Amino acid sequence: MIYDNVLDAMGRTPMIRLNHLSEPNAAQILVKYEGINIGGSIKTRTAFQMLAAAEKRGDIGPGTIIVEPTSGNQGIGLALVCAVKGYAAKIIMPDSVSVERRKLVRHYGAEVIIVHDEGDIGKCIAECIATAERMAEEDSRVYIPQQFENVDNLLAHKYHTALEILEDVEGPIHGFCAGIGTGGTISGVGQVLKALYPDVSIWAVEPENAAILSGGGIGTHLQMGIGDGLIPDILDQDIYDDVCVISDEEALETARQLAREEGLMVGVSSGTNVAAARRLARKLGAGKTVVTILPDTGERYFSTELFDE
Ligand code: PMP
Repeated sequence: MIYDNVLDAMGRTPMIRLNHLSEPNAAQILVKYEGINIGGSIKTRTAFQMLAAAEKRGDIGPGTIIVEPTSGNQGIGLALVCAVKGYAAKIIMPDSVSVERRKLVRHYGAEVIIVHDEGDIGKCIAECIATAERMAEEDSRVYIPQQFENVDNLLAHKYHTALEILEDVEGPIHGFCAGIGTGGTISGVGQVLKALYPDVSIWAVEPENAAILSGGGIGTHLQMGIGDGLIPDILDQDIYDDVCVISDEEALETARQLAREEGLMVGVSSGTNVAAARRLARKLGAGKTVVTILPDTGERYFSTELFDE
């Protein structure tokens, strides 16, 4: 099997049963390991879908400059897809994202523009978005995919992530949970699961310090990629049955346990998702199946608290 380019090798990530982090009297937990996807995260899928759809519509073409405000993985995914497709890319990031993310974006040949985070991630993301909009006003070659508003983000998960889950998991899925960044994952996967299994319990997950869906305040936290301090336009607010809040400590500890006990090298939000999945699994009980996502690899967190011993 020879792929024509690296993007053709994207997706079809494995579904793996947790053996040590599942509990005897709880539902089994199955995780979709996006850390070994092309580009190291689930966001290569959405980058590809958003740009391929924009090309089809004629919104972008030779000479287009892709500009995106992002807290990390979406920038890496876009930089990768732009490298393959030959577009220039400029990625606008808060300085609170890990240094690995910046270096990866630059390494794929894109430019990084940093916005200072003064302790309010919501404000900082808003400033990243405003910067991108200013750039688009000043240069007609600029195209902003706008992952928080772009329905192709959601469709990447509806057409691919969700269908791969259904291909791999035989029998009913009783629970699904995912942390909310743009809401693309939970909305896209959730819509497919709800259509097939109307009784499935879907939990939205958010960091304790940015629990905006739960009516909490917005602050900085360590669960990079989720809890951006806004309610995204593409989030389907009817798709989840409950909201689960996870602290930084529990997310970090669960991510470490995933490496040590399951051999899964994952980022902090994977810890968030599995911590929530364990609660959901306890609630649903033995004999049931809970699915969640491990959105990215742990190897882009060397400089962060995840690797503090
Ligand atoms: N975890 C990580 C590490 C991410 O980069 C993202 C994407 N922002 C998410 C979780 C959340 O995914 P979504 O944007 O689909 O809600």
